Amino acid sequence: PFIQPSDNATITAADTGNVFHSWSAQAGLAPMPIASGSGVKVWDFDGNEYLDFSSQLVNVNIGYQHPAVVTAIQEQAARLATVGPAYANDARAKAAQKILEHAPEGMQKIFFTNAGADANENAIRMARLHTGRDKVLSLYRSYHGNTGAAIVATGDWRRVPNEFARGHVHAFGPYLYRSEFWASTAEEESARALHHLERIVQAEGPSSIAAMLFETIPGTAGVLMPPPGYLHGVREICDRYGIILILDEVMAGFGRTGAWLALDNFDVRPDLVTFAKGVNSGYVPAGGVMISEAISKTFDDRVFPGGLTYSGHPLAMASIVATIEAMEQEKIVENAATIGETVIGPRLAAMAERLDVIGEVRGIGVFWAIELVADAETREMLPASEMGAIKKALMAHGLLPFLADNRIHVVPPAVITADEAETGLAIIEKVLSER
Ligand code: PLP
Repeated sequence: PFIQPSDNATITAADTGNVFHSWSAQAGLAPMPIASGSGVKVWDFDGNEYLDFSSQLVNVNIGYQHPAVVTAIQEQAARLATVGPAYANDARAKAAQKILEHAPEGMQKIFFTNAGADANENAIRMARLHTGRDKVLSLYRSYHGNTGAAIVATGDWRRVPNEFARGHVHAFGPYLYRSEFWASTAEEESARALHHLERIVQAEGPSSIAAMLFETIPGTAGVLMPPPGYLHGVREICDRYGIILILDEVMAGFGRTGAWLALDNFDVRPDLVTFAKGVNSGYVPAGGVMISEAISKTFDDRVFPGGLTYSGHPLAMASIVATIEAMEQEKIVENAATIGETVIGPRLAAMAERLDVIGEVRGIGVFWAIELVADAETREMLPASEMGAIKKALMAHGLLPFLADNRIHVVPPAVITADEAETGLAIIEKVLSER
């Protein structure tokens, strides 16, 4: 299946000469060339094969070139390649229906966007208009996308040079391994993080807060599994003060955690859910907002002041329908759960026992982080220079990894087999053992 239209050096030169890249100083960039993919593997233009333990940007949940999804896009393109958002279309209606089949109880409608950032943008807008309030409370350890409000709702470093939108406040969430709350148990961490959150709500003025925007499981920030009771407690605080709860499922949703949505793993009921990435594995850009009945009703007689030319684009919609149907038929979500429970979880736990450089492993399904430390006692993070060397070594062994700060995230496509997962984990163990 591999077609070799060029070679790595030619493609890299053509790229860096013409393409302006995200989140980077442009000089000296050498992006990895990717020519093709199939299942959990990709090939570069020189024919080298890589096992993808990153799902690109943690979005290719269904793997590369799933034939049913590719065919659905081709057939839709042949029939009607574009249609404006004000028209009714079968692919859009079906995509909304399929998403609602896997939505939490009480969700009534879907608003489609182009990606995750504008999903959060529109969820924030809905919460503000529904409540008549302004502020959005989110976590410092978070990423919500790179547009006006979404980047300011983001907690990590990417917010700081982009802080041009108003009405955003942040809190620390639970993270027992590096607790902000001097906690020593998960229960303590949960209770103290909730106390901190409620105090921020009170200090900001509860009647000024429209929404809390939380990743169900903060992803890029380190797969920070919420401790028992935390998300339930967040819901209780929202209820106490009339605040809308938006759960960002852009990275954690659609099979990543071994459940359809990450929130299915917890006792929590959101008002709005944002999604993108896994909903169609990024075959065509798409995202959206699941809207509760109450918020949906707000806009029954009142104009919703928002829209996008490509809201519900038919190629994206056809790919969503085909992706969800393939996930159902091939039991891809169940596979992610099994791989997490029987292969990734136990293997990472054993590695952490054996190797001092691993401070903690945590995760669920095909959504894991290995936290690397220079000193097991002080938990000092492994420095960037060492992380760079580890990345190079992993790639030299044919693994395409996802690294963030001092962590290796183990986030392969949800279709990965036990053998493929074992192969990738063995590469990680070898590289960490030999460093
Ligand atoms: N929300 C979360 C949790 C994400 O991980 C991301 C992207 O990584 C986004 C939102 C933004 O999505 P997009 O890049 O599709 O706009």
